[in-house]
Amino acid sequence: MLLTTEAPAADSDTLAFIDREHKLLIDGDWVPAESGETIDVKNPADGETIATVAAGDKADIDKAVAAARRAFEGGEWPALTASERGRMLWKLADLIEEHLEEFAEIESLDNGKPRAVAAAADVPLAIDLFRYMAGWATKIEGTTIPISVPYMPGAEFHSYTLREPVGVVGQIIPWNFPLLMAAWKLGPALATGCTVVLKIAEETPLSGLRLGHLIQDAGFPDGVVNIVTGYGETAGAALAAHPDVDKVAFTGSTEVGKLIVKAAGETNLKKVSLELGGKSPNVILPDADLSTAIGGAANAIFFNHGQCCCAGSRLFVHKSQFDQVVEGVAEQAKQIKLGPGMHPETGMGPMVSQIQQDRVCGYLESGFAAGAQAVIGGKRAGGEGYFVEPTILVDTKPDMDVIQEEIFGPVVAAVPFEDPDELIAAANDSIYGLAAAVWTRDISKGHRIAKQLRAGTVWINCYNIFDAALPFGGYKQSGWGREMGHEAIDLYTQTKAVTLQF
Ligand code: NAP
Ligand code: MG
Repeated sequence: MLLTTEAPAADSDTLAFIDREHKLLIDGDWVPAESGETIDVKNPADGETIATVAAGDKADIDKAVAAARRAFEGGEWPALTASERGRMLWKLADLIEEHLEEFAEIESLDNGKPRAVAAAADVPLAIDLFRYMAGWATKIEGTTIPISVPYMPGAEFHSYTLREPVGVVGQIIPWNFPLLMAAWKLGPALATGCTVVLKIAEETPLSGLRLGHLIQDAGFPDGVVNIVTGYGETAGAALAAHPDVDKVAFTGSTEVGKLIVKAAGETNLKKVSLELGGKSPNVILPDADLSTAIGGAANAIFFNHGQCCCAGSRLFVHKSQFDQVVEGVAEQAKQIKLGPGMHPETGMGPMVSQIQQDRVCGYLESGFAAGAQAVIGGKRAGGEGYFVEPTILVDTKPDMDVIQEEIFGPVVAAVPFEDPDELIAAANDSIYGLAAAVWTRDISKGHRIAKQLRAGTVWINCYNIFDAALPFGGYKQSGWGREMGHEAIDLYTQTKAVTLQF
Protein backbone atom coordinates (compact mmCIF):
# COMPACT_ATOMS: atom_id res chain seq x y z
CA MET A 1 0.00 0.00 0.00
CA LEU A 2 2.93 2.35 0.62
CA LEU A 3 4.42 3.86 -2.49
CA THR A 4 8.09 4.70 -2.61
CA THR A 5 9.14 7.72 -0.56
CA GLU A 6 10.74 9.04 -3.76
CA ALA A 7 8.73 11.72 -5.50
CA PRO A 8 9.23 14.28 -8.26
CA ALA A 9 11.05 17.42 -7.13
CA ALA A 10 9.15 20.64 -6.73
CA ASP A 11 9.56 23.51 -9.15
CA SER A 12 12.83 25.44 -8.79
CA ASP A 13 11.01 28.63 -7.70
CA THR A 14 9.26 26.71 -4.92
CA LEU A 15 12.54 25.20 -3.77
CA ALA A 16 14.24 28.60 -3.92
CA PHE A 17 11.59 30.03 -1.63
CA ILE A 18 11.81 27.10 0.80
CA ASP A 19 15.61 27.48 0.86
CA ARG A 20 15.50 31.13 1.88
CA GLU A 21 16.27 32.37 5.33
CA HIS A 22 12.78 32.74 6.86
CA LYS A 23 12.15 35.62 9.20
CA LEU A 24 9.21 37.25 10.93
CA LEU A 25 7.06 39.89 9.22
CA ILE A 26 6.83 42.79 11.66
CA ASP A 27 5.83 46.31 10.67
CA GLY A 28 6.55 45.63 7.00
CA ASP A 29 10.07 44.28 7.58
CA TRP A 30 11.34 40.72 7.66
CA VAL A 31 13.32 40.40 10.86
CA PRO A 32 14.91 37.51 12.78
CA ALA A 33 13.55 36.48 16.17
CA GLU A 34 14.95 38.66 18.97
CA SER A 35 16.38 35.51 20.55
CA GLY A 36 18.05 34.45 17.30
CA GLU A 37 16.49 30.98 17.79
CA THR A 38 15.12 28.96 14.89
CA ILE A 39 12.83 25.96 14.35
CA ASP A 40 13.52 23.17 11.86
CA VAL A 41 10.76 22.50 9.36
CA LYS A 42 10.41 18.88 8.28
CA ASN A 43 9.00 17.13 5.27
CA PRO A 44 6.75 14.57 6.99
CA ALA A 45 7.06 12.14 4.07
CA ASP A 46 10.69 11.40 4.97
CA GLY A 47 11.51 13.29 8.16
CA GLU A 48 14.12 15.45 6.37
CA THR A 49 14.63 19.06 7.45
CA ILE A 50 13.69 21.27 4.50
CA ALA A 51 13.94 24.73 6.06
CA THR A 52 14.43 26.63 9.27
CA VAL A 53 12.19 29.45 10.42
CA ALA A 54 12.53 32.01 13.18
CA ALA A 55 11.35 30.90 16.62
CA GLY A 56 9.48 34.02 17.66
CA ASP A 57 8.52 34.38 21.31
CA LYS A 58 7.08 36.98 23.68
CA ALA A 59 9.58 39.69 22.71
CA ASP A 60 8.65 39.34 19.02
CA ILE A 61 4.93 39.20 19.80
CA ASP A 62 5.31 42.45 21.77
CA LYS A 63 6.93 44.12 18.76
CA ALA A 64 4.31 42.75 16.38
CA VAL A 65 1.41 43.85 18.57
CA ALA A 66 2.90 47.35 18.88
CA ALA A 67 3.18 47.52 15.07
CA ALA A 68 -0.40 46.33 14.63
CA ARG A 69 -1.57 48.92 17.18
CA ARG A 70 0.21 51.76 15.35
CA ALA A 71 -1.25 50.60 12.03
CA PHE A 72 -4.74 50.42 13.51
CA GLU A 73 -4.65 53.80 15.23
CA GLY A 74 -3.27 55.97 12.46
CA GLY A 75 -1.52 56.28 9.12
CA GLU A 76 -2.65 54.77 5.86
CA TRP A 77 -4.83 51.83 6.89
CA PRO A 78 -7.67 53.53 8.77
CA ALA A 79 -7.70 56.24 6.07
CA LEU A 80 -8.43 53.76 3.28
CA THR A 81 -11.98 53.55 1.97
CA ALA A 82 -13.86 50.28 2.28
CA SER A 83 -13.63 49.92 -1.47
CA GLU A 84 -9.84 50.28 -1.35
CA ARG A 85 -9.61 47.62 1.36
CA GLY A 86 -11.78 45.33 -0.76
CA ARG A 87 -9.60 45.89 -3.81
CA MET A 88 -6.46 44.99 -1.85
CA LEU A 89 -8.05 41.73 -0.74
CA TRP A 90 -9.06 40.98 -4.34
CA LYS A 91 -5.51 41.74 -5.48
CA LEU A 92 -4.19 39.36 -2.84
CA ALA A 93 -6.52 36.65 -4.18
CA ASP A 94 -5.21 37.29 -7.72
CA LEU A 95 -1.61 37.02 -6.53
CA ILE A 96 -2.30 33.71 -4.75
CA GLU A 97 -3.94 32.45 -7.93
CA GLU A 98 -0.83 33.38 -9.93
CA HIS A 99 1.18 31.28 -7.47
CA LEU A 100 -1.34 28.44 -7.11
CA GLU A 101 1.05 25.66 -8.09
CA GLU A 102 3.79 27.02 -5.86
CA PHE A 103 1.44 27.09 -2.88
CA ALA A 104 0.28 23.55 -3.64
CA GLU A 105 3.90 22.35 -3.66
CA ILE A 106 4.73 24.18 -0.45
CA GLU A 107 1.70 22.68 1.31
CA SER A 108 2.59 19.24 0.04
CA LEU A 109 6.23 19.40 1.16
CA ASP A 110 5.51 21.04 4.50
CA ASN A 111 2.23 19.38 5.57
CA GLY A 112 2.42 16.11 3.59
CA LYS A 113 -0.90 16.42 1.77
CA PRO A 114 -1.17 15.39 -1.90
CA ARG A 115 -0.05 18.25 -4.14
CA ALA A 116 -3.05 17.70 -6.42
CA VAL A 117 -5.46 18.00 -3.48
CA ALA A 118 -3.85 21.24 -2.32
CA ALA A 119 -4.05 22.56 -5.89
CA ALA A 120 -7.71 21.56 -6.24
CA ALA A 121 -9.00 22.39 -2.76
CA ASP A 122 -6.80 24.22 -0.25
CA VAL A 123 -5.47 26.95 -2.53
CA PRO A 124 -8.66 27.64 -4.56
CA LEU A 125 -10.68 27.76 -1.32
CA ALA A 126 -8.24 30.32 0.09
CA ILE A 127 -8.48 32.40 -3.10
CA ASP A 128 -12.28 32.24 -3.01
CA LEU A 129 -12.34 33.22 0.65
CA PHE A 130 -10.30 36.36 0.02
CA ARG A 131 -12.56 37.29 -2.92
CA TYR A 132 -15.71 36.67 -0.89
CA MET A 133 -14.39 38.81 1.97
CA ALA A 134 -13.23 41.50 -0.48
CA GLY A 135 -16.90 41.90 -1.36
CA TRP A 136 -17.87 42.29 2.28
CA ALA A 137 -15.57 45.26 2.87
CA THR A 138 -18.13 47.61 1.27
CA LYS A 139 -21.18 45.96 2.84
CA ILE A 140 -20.58 46.37 6.55
CA GLU A 141 -23.59 48.41 7.56
CA GLY A 142 -25.33 49.64 10.67
CA THR A 143 -29.05 50.24 11.10
CA THR A 144 -31.32 53.14 12.01
CA ILE A 145 -33.46 52.43 15.07
CA PRO A 146 -36.63 54.20 16.20
CA ILE A 147 -36.38 54.80 19.96
CA SER A 148 -39.05 55.84 22.48
CA VAL A 149 -37.24 56.77 25.76
CA PRO A 150 -40.25 56.61 28.14
CA TYR A 151 -38.75 58.98 30.73
CA MET A 152 -38.40 61.85 28.20
CA PRO A 153 -41.92 62.38 26.79
CA GLY A 154 -41.96 64.53 23.67
CA ALA A 155 -38.21 64.40 23.05
CA GLU A 156 -37.07 63.45 19.54
CA PHE A 157 -34.03 61.41 18.64
CA HIS A 158 -32.15 59.94 15.73
CA SER A 159 -30.42 56.67 16.63
CA TYR A 160 -28.26 54.48 14.46
CA THR A 161 -25.55 51.87 14.81
CA LEU A 162 -22.05 51.74 13.37
CA ARG A 163 -20.21 48.46 12.80
CA GLU A 164 -16.59 49.17 13.64
CA PRO A 165 -13.48 46.98 13.48
CA VAL A 166 -12.69 45.33 16.79
CA GLY A 167 -9.06 46.52 16.64
CA VAL A 168 -5.80 44.60 16.96
CA VAL A 169 -6.46 40.92 16.45
CA GLY A 170 -4.27 37.97 17.43
CA GLN A 171 -4.83 34.91 15.27
CA ILE A 172 -3.46 31.45 16.01
CA ILE A 173 -3.78 28.74 13.39
CA PRO A 174 -3.08 25.00 13.13
CA TRP A 175 -1.17 22.86 10.65
CA ASN A 176 -3.90 20.83 8.93
CA PHE A 177 -4.81 23.41 6.23
CA PRO A 178 -2.03 25.96 6.68
CA LEU A 179 -2.82 28.43 3.88
CA LEU A 180 -6.58 28.00 4.11
CA MET A 181 -6.67 28.57 7.88
CA ALA A 182 -4.62 31.75 7.37
CA ALA A 183 -7.19 32.86 4.77
CA TRP A 184 -10.19 32.10 7.02
CA LYS A 185 -8.59 34.26 9.68
CA LEU A 186 -7.10 37.12 7.65
CA GLY A 187 -9.91 37.59 5.12
CA PRO A 188 -12.65 38.86 7.45
CA ALA A 189 -10.21 40.70 9.74
CA LEU A 190 -8.84 42.72 6.84
CA ALA A 191 -12.24 43.27 5.22
CA THR A 192 -13.44 44.91 8.42
CA GLY A 193 -10.35 47.10 8.88
CA CYS A 194 -8.71 45.28 11.80
CA THR A 195 -4.95 44.81 12.02
CA VAL A 196 -3.46 41.41 12.73
CA VAL A 197 -0.71 39.46 14.41
CA LEU A 198 -0.86 35.97 12.92
CA LYS A 199 0.88 33.11 14.76
CA ILE A 200 1.27 30.24 12.33
CA ALA A 201 1.80 26.62 13.38
CA GLU A 202 5.38 25.58 13.98
CA GLU A 203 4.79 22.37 11.98
CA THR A 204 3.73 24.12 8.78
CA PRO A 205 4.99 27.71 8.60
CA LEU A 206 6.03 27.95 4.96
CA SER A 207 2.81 28.79 3.09
CA GLY A 208 1.91 31.46 5.66
CA LEU A 209 5.32 33.06 5.17
CA ARG A 210 4.92 32.94 1.38
CA LEU A 211 1.51 34.57 1.87
CA GLY A 212 3.22 37.32 3.90
CA HIS A 213 5.28 38.31 0.85
CA LEU A 214 2.16 38.45 -1.32
CA ILE A 215 0.37 40.54 1.32
CA GLN A 216 3.18 43.07 0.92
CA ASP A 217 2.95 42.86 -2.88
CA ALA A 218 -0.81 43.45 -2.70
CA GLY A 219 -0.10 46.82 -1.07
CA PHE A 220 -1.31 46.36 2.49
CA PRO A 221 0.38 49.08 4.58
CA ASP A 222 3.17 48.14 6.98
CA GLY A 223 2.00 46.71 10.29
CA VAL A 224 -1.49 45.74 9.08
CA VAL A 225 -0.49 42.07 8.91
CA ASN A 226 2.35 40.85 11.09
CA ILE A 227 3.35 37.20 10.90
CA VAL A 228 5.16 35.40 13.69
CA THR A 229 6.39 31.84 13.50
CA GLY A 230 7.11 30.18 16.82
CA TYR A 231 5.95 27.69 19.39
CA GLY A 232 2.45 27.73 20.78
CA GLU A 233 3.57 27.65 24.39
CA THR A 234 5.68 30.80 23.94
CA ALA A 235 4.59 32.93 20.95
CA GLY A 236 0.98 31.67 20.97
CA ALA A 237 0.54 32.03 24.71
CA ALA A 238 2.06 35.55 24.66
CA LEU A 239 -0.38 36.61 21.95
CA ALA A 240 -3.41 35.19 23.78
CA ALA A 241 -2.35 36.93 27.00
CA HIS A 242 -1.25 40.24 25.46
CA PRO A 243 -3.00 43.18 27.17
CA ASP A 244 -3.02 45.29 24.00
CA VAL A 245 -4.69 42.68 21.78
CA ASP A 246 -8.43 43.38 21.42
CA LYS A 247 -9.44 39.97 20.15
CA VAL A 248 -7.94 36.54 19.73
CA ALA A 249 -9.15 34.06 17.12
CA PHE A 250 -7.92 30.50 17.54
CA THR A 251 -8.20 27.25 15.61
CA GLY A 252 -6.83 24.06 17.12
CA SER A 253 -7.46 21.66 19.95
CA THR A 254 -10.19 22.12 22.54
CA GLU A 255 -7.51 21.75 25.20
CA VAL A 256 -5.53 24.76 23.95
CA GLY A 257 -8.80 26.61 23.25
CA LYS A 258 -9.50 26.50 27.00
CA LEU A 259 -6.03 27.96 27.68
CA ILE A 260 -6.79 30.81 25.26
CA VAL A 261 -10.02 31.62 27.10
CA LYS A 262 -8.17 31.53 30.43
CA ALA A 263 -5.41 33.82 29.16
CA ALA A 264 -7.97 36.30 27.80
CA GLY A 265 -9.90 36.23 31.07
CA GLU A 266 -6.83 36.77 33.22
CA THR A 267 -5.57 39.77 31.25
CA ASN A 268 -7.80 42.23 29.41
CA LEU A 269 -10.96 40.19 28.67
CA LYS A 270 -10.18 40.38 24.97
CA LYS A 271 -12.88 38.98 22.72
CA VAL A 272 -12.36 35.33 21.84
CA SER A 273 -13.50 33.18 18.94
CA LEU A 274 -12.63 29.51 18.74
CA GLU A 275 -12.77 26.79 16.13
CA LEU A 276 -11.93 23.58 17.96
CA GLY A 277 -12.03 19.85 17.70
CA GLY A 278 -14.73 17.45 16.64
CA LYS A 279 -15.88 13.84 16.71
CA SER A 280 -18.38 14.11 13.94
CA PRO A 281 -21.09 11.48 13.43
CA ASN A 282 -21.74 10.30 9.89
CA VAL A 283 -25.08 8.48 9.72
CA ILE A 284 -26.09 6.11 6.93
CA LEU A 285 -29.83 5.36 7.08
CA PRO A 286 -31.22 2.10 5.66
CA ASP A 287 -32.77 3.90 2.69
CA ALA A 288 -29.51 5.60 1.67
CA ASP A 289 -28.03 5.21 -1.79
CA LEU A 290 -25.08 3.08 -0.72
CA SER A 291 -23.30 3.63 -4.02
CA THR A 292 -22.65 7.22 -2.92
CA ALA A 293 -22.80 6.82 0.87
CA ILE A 294 -19.92 4.35 1.04
CA GLY A 295 -17.57 6.59 -0.95
CA GLY A 296 -18.84 9.52 1.09
CA ALA A 297 -18.03 7.75 4.35
CA ALA A 298 -14.50 6.98 3.14
CA ASN A 299 -13.95 10.58 2.03
CA ALA A 300 -15.38 11.85 5.32
CA ILE A 301 -12.58 10.23 7.31
CA PHE A 302 -9.69 9.75 4.90
CA PHE A 303 -9.67 13.22 3.32
CA ASN A 304 -6.56 15.09 4.53
CA HIS A 305 -5.56 11.84 6.31
CA GLY A 306 -8.31 12.41 8.87
CA GLN A 307 -6.55 15.58 10.01
CA CYS A 308 -9.78 17.56 9.71
CA CYS A 309 -11.62 19.07 12.64
CA CYS A 310 -14.85 17.95 10.94
CA ALA A 311 -13.67 14.42 10.01
CA GLY A 312 -16.51 11.88 9.98
CA SER A 313 -14.84 9.76 12.64
CA ARG A 314 -17.95 7.99 13.99
CA LEU A 315 -19.80 6.10 11.27
CA PHE A 316 -23.30 4.95 12.25
CA VAL A 317 -24.81 2.31 9.99
CA HIS A 318 -28.07 0.37 10.34
CA LYS A 319 -27.49 -3.18 11.57
CA SER A 320 -29.00 -4.66 8.41
CA GLN A 321 -26.35 -3.02 6.21
CA PHE A 322 -23.48 -2.78 8.62
CA ASP A 323 -21.30 -5.51 7.13
CA GLN A 324 -21.92 -4.37 3.57
CA VAL A 325 -21.00 -0.74 4.36
CA VAL A 326 -17.93 -1.64 6.42
CA GLU A 327 -16.71 -3.91 3.62
CA GLY A 328 -17.35 -1.15 1.09
CA VAL A 329 -15.42 1.45 3.07
CA ALA A 330 -12.61 -1.08 3.66
CA GLU A 331 -12.46 -1.69 -0.08
CA GLN A 332 -12.06 2.06 -0.64
CA ALA A 333 -9.36 2.21 2.04
CA LYS A 334 -7.48 -0.59 0.29
CA GLN A 335 -7.37 1.48 -2.91
CA ILE A 336 -5.75 4.46 -1.19
CA LYS A 337 -2.08 4.71 -2.02
CA LEU A 338 0.05 6.08 0.79
CA GLY A 339 3.04 8.11 -0.27
CA PRO A 340 4.69 11.51 -0.34
CA GLY A 341 2.30 14.30 -1.25
CA MET A 342 4.47 15.16 -4.25
CA HIS A 343 3.99 11.68 -5.80
CA PRO A 344 1.26 11.94 -8.47
CA GLU A 345 -0.36 8.64 -7.41
CA THR A 346 -0.52 9.44 -3.71
CA GLY A 347 -4.03 9.30 -2.29
CA MET A 348 -2.99 9.86 1.30
CA GLY A 349 0.21 11.41 2.58
CA PRO A 350 1.87 11.11 5.98
CA MET A 351 0.62 12.54 9.28
CA VAL A 352 1.99 16.04 9.73
CA SER A 353 4.58 15.06 12.35
CA GLN A 354 6.02 12.20 14.32
CA ILE A 355 4.11 13.50 17.35
CA GLN A 356 0.86 13.23 15.42
CA GLN A 357 1.78 9.75 14.12
CA ASP A 358 2.51 8.64 17.70
CA ARG A 359 -0.70 10.21 18.95
CA VAL A 360 -2.85 8.42 16.37
CA CYS A 361 -1.09 5.10 16.97
CA GLY A 362 -1.48 5.60 20.73
CA TYR A 363 -5.25 5.87 20.22
CA LEU A 364 -5.21 2.69 18.13
CA GLU A 365 -3.36 0.83 20.88
CA SER A 366 -5.80 2.09 23.51
CA GLY A 367 -8.73 1.00 21.36
CA PHE A 368 -7.29 -2.48 20.83
CA ALA A 369 -6.53 -2.83 24.55
CA ALA A 370 -10.17 -1.97 25.30
CA GLY A 371 -11.45 -4.60 22.84
CA ALA A 372 -11.88 -2.78 19.53
CA GLN A 373 -10.85 -4.56 16.32
CA ALA A 374 -9.41 -3.17 13.09
CA VAL A 375 -11.20 -4.39 9.96
CA ILE A 376 -8.43 -2.80 7.94
CA GLY A 377 -5.31 -0.82 8.83
CA GLY A 378 -4.55 -0.28 12.50
CA LYS A 379 -0.87 0.61 12.47
CA ARG A 380 1.87 2.91 11.22
CA ALA A 381 3.29 2.33 7.77
CA GLY A 382 6.62 2.87 6.03
CA GLY A 383 10.01 3.85 7.36
CA GLU A 384 11.14 7.42 7.89
CA GLY A 385 7.88 9.13 6.99
CA TYR A 386 5.03 9.58 9.45
CA PHE A 387 2.48 7.35 7.73
CA VAL A 388 -0.53 5.68 9.31
CA GLU A 389 -2.72 3.16 7.49
CA PRO A 390 -6.33 4.09 6.79
CA THR A 391 -8.17 2.29 9.57
CA ILE A 392 -11.71 1.10 10.33
CA LEU A 393 -12.46 0.09 13.91
CA VAL A 394 -15.41 -2.08 14.97
CA ASP A 395 -16.53 -3.65 18.26
CA THR A 396 -16.12 -0.34 20.04
CA LYS A 397 -18.02 0.71 23.20
CA PRO A 398 -19.46 4.20 23.71
CA ASP A 399 -17.08 5.02 26.56
CA MET A 400 -13.85 4.10 24.75
CA ASP A 401 -11.35 6.89 24.08
CA VAL A 402 -11.51 6.07 20.36
CA ILE A 403 -15.23 6.96 20.45
CA GLN A 404 -15.06 9.94 22.81
CA GLU A 405 -11.84 11.72 21.83
CA GLU A 406 -10.62 13.40 18.68
CA ILE A 407 -7.96 11.17 17.09
CA PHE A 408 -7.18 13.51 14.19
CA GLY A 409 -5.99 10.71 11.95
CA PRO A 410 -7.36 8.29 9.32
CA VAL A 411 -9.31 6.26 11.86
CA VAL A 412 -13.07 5.75 11.73
CA ALA A 413 -15.10 3.81 14.28
CA ALA A 414 -18.04 2.05 12.61
CA VAL A 415 -20.99 1.59 14.97
CA PRO A 416 -24.18 -0.36 14.16
CA PHE A 417 -27.60 0.98 15.20
CA GLU A 418 -31.13 -0.41 15.23
CA ASP A 419 -33.47 2.12 16.75
CA PRO A 420 -33.65 5.61 15.13
CA ASP A 421 -34.18 7.42 18.47
CA GLU A 422 -31.18 5.70 20.00
CA LEU A 423 -29.24 6.67 16.91
CA ILE A 424 -29.77 10.40 17.50
CA ALA A 425 -28.82 10.07 21.17
CA ALA A 426 -25.67 8.12 20.26
CA ALA A 427 -24.73 10.57 17.49
CA ASN A 428 -25.11 13.49 19.91
CA ASP A 429 -23.26 11.71 22.73
CA SER A 430 -20.10 13.81 22.45
CA ILE A 431 -18.57 16.88 24.05
CA TYR A 432 -18.09 18.07 20.46
CA GLY A 433 -20.57 19.45 17.96
CA LEU A 434 -18.69 20.63 14.91
CA ALA A 435 -20.16 18.68 12.00
CA ALA A 436 -22.40 15.73 11.15
CA ALA A 437 -23.84 14.05 8.11
CA VAL A 438 -26.81 11.92 7.18
CA TRP A 439 -27.28 9.78 4.08
CA THR A 440 -30.88 9.01 3.05
CA ARG A 441 -33.21 9.04 0.04
CA ASP A 442 -36.04 10.34 2.26
CA ILE A 443 -35.71 14.11 2.04
CA SER A 444 -38.01 14.84 5.01
CA LYS A 445 -36.10 12.41 7.19
CA GLY A 446 -32.82 13.99 6.13
CA HIS A 447 -33.99 17.47 7.14
CA ARG A 448 -35.54 16.21 10.39
CA ILE A 449 -32.31 14.53 11.43
CA ALA A 450 -30.35 17.63 10.39
CA LYS A 451 -32.41 19.52 12.99
CA GLN A 452 -31.87 16.88 15.65
CA LEU A 453 -28.09 16.67 15.30
CA ARG A 454 -26.30 19.08 17.64
CA ALA A 455 -23.63 20.36 15.27
CA GLY A 456 -22.68 23.60 13.53
CA THR A 457 -22.65 21.96 10.10
CA VAL A 458 -24.85 19.14 8.81
CA TRP A 459 -24.35 17.62 5.40
CA ILE A 460 -27.14 15.59 3.74
CA ASN A 461 -25.96 13.09 1.13
CA CYS A 462 -22.53 14.72 0.97
CA TYR A 463 -19.53 15.42 3.18
CA ASN A 464 -16.73 17.98 3.43
CA ILE A 465 -18.56 20.62 1.41
CA PHE A 466 -17.06 24.02 2.17
CA ASP A 467 -17.74 27.42 0.72
CA ALA A 468 -16.64 30.91 1.71
CA ALA A 469 -20.33 31.88 1.96
CA LEU A 470 -21.26 29.10 4.42
CA PRO A 471 -20.74 29.74 8.14
CA PHE A 472 -18.57 27.13 9.83
CA GLY A 473 -18.12 26.58 13.56
CA GLY A 474 -19.02 24.50 16.53
CA TYR A 475 -21.80 23.69 18.94
CA LYS A 476 -20.80 22.57 22.45
CA GLN A 477 -17.02 22.33 23.01
CA SER A 478 -16.26 22.65 19.30
CA GLY A 479 -16.02 26.40 19.50
CA TRP A 480 -17.36 29.91 19.79
CA GLY A 481 -18.46 31.89 16.75
CA ARG A 482 -18.67 31.13 13.05
CA GLU A 483 -15.99 31.57 10.42
CA MET A 484 -16.82 32.28 6.77
CA GLY A 485 -20.14 33.62 5.57
CA HIS A 486 -21.35 36.99 6.82
CA GLU A 487 -21.09 35.75 10.39
CA ALA A 488 -17.30 35.98 10.09
CA ILE A 489 -17.73 39.75 9.74
CA ASP A 490 -19.47 39.77 13.13
CA LEU A 491 -16.38 38.18 14.69
CA TYR A 492 -14.23 41.15 13.72
CA THR A 493 -16.62 44.05 14.24
CA GLN A 494 -18.39 45.58 17.19
CA THR A 495 -21.53 47.68 17.31
CA LYS A 496 -21.60 51.30 18.38
CA ALA A 497 -25.03 52.82 19.10
CA VAL A 498 -25.14 56.57 18.34
CA THR A 499 -28.04 58.77 19.47
CA LEU A 500 -28.66 62.40 18.60
CA GLN A 501 -31.37 64.50 20.19
CA PHE A 502 -33.08 66.89 17.79
P1 NAP B 1 -2.81 22.79 19.14
O1 NAP B 1 -1.77 22.51 20.14
O2 NAP B 1 -4.17 23.18 19.59
O3 NAP B 1 -2.21 23.90 18.15
C1 NAP B 1 -2.94 24.81 17.37
C2 NAP B 1 -2.21 26.15 17.37
O4 NAP B 1 -2.16 26.66 18.69
C3 NAP B 1 -0.77 26.05 16.90
O5 NAP B 1 -0.41 27.25 16.23
C4 NAP B 1 -0.03 25.94 18.21
O6 NAP B 1 1.31 26.31 18.14
C5 NAP B 1 -0.82 26.88 19.08
N1 NAP B 1 -0.68 26.64 20.51
C6 NAP B 1 -0.31 25.51 21.15
N2 NAP B 1 -0.29 25.70 22.49
C7 NAP B 1 -0.66 26.98 22.70
C8 NAP B 1 -0.83 27.78 23.87
N3 NAP B 1 -0.61 27.29 25.09
N4 NAP B 1 -1.23 29.06 23.73
C9 NAP B 1 -1.47 29.57 22.50
N5 NAP B 1 -1.31 28.87 21.36
C10 NAP B 1 -0.91 27.59 21.46
O7 NAP B 1 -2.96 21.58 18.18
P2 NAP B 1 -1.77 20.59 17.74
O8 NAP B 1 -0.73 20.37 18.77
O9 NAP B 1 -1.26 21.15 16.51
O10 NAP B 1 -2.59 19.25 17.58
C11 NAP B 1 -3.09 18.57 18.73
C12 NAP B 1 -4.51 18.15 18.51
O11 NAP B 1 -5.33 19.30 18.30
C13 NAP B 1 -4.75 17.33 17.26
O12 NAP B 1 -4.43 16.01 17.42
C14 NAP B 1 -6.21 17.57 17.02
O13 NAP B 1 -6.97 16.72 17.82
C15 NAP B 1 -6.41 18.99 17.44
N6 NAP B 1 -6.41 19.92 16.31
C16 NAP B 1 -7.59 20.43 15.89
C17 NAP B 1 -7.59 21.29 14.80
C18 NAP B 1 -8.86 21.90 14.28
O14 NAP B 1 -8.88 22.33 13.15
N7 NAP B 1 -9.90 22.02 15.07
C19 NAP B 1 -6.43 21.61 14.13
C20 NAP B 1 -5.23 21.07 14.60
C21 NAP B 1 -5.25 20.23 15.68
P3 NAP B 1 2.44 25.29 17.60
O15 NAP B 1 1.79 24.06 17.14
O16 NAP B 1 3.07 26.07 16.53
O17 NAP B 1 3.37 25.06 18.73
MG1 MG C 1 1.65 21.70 18.18
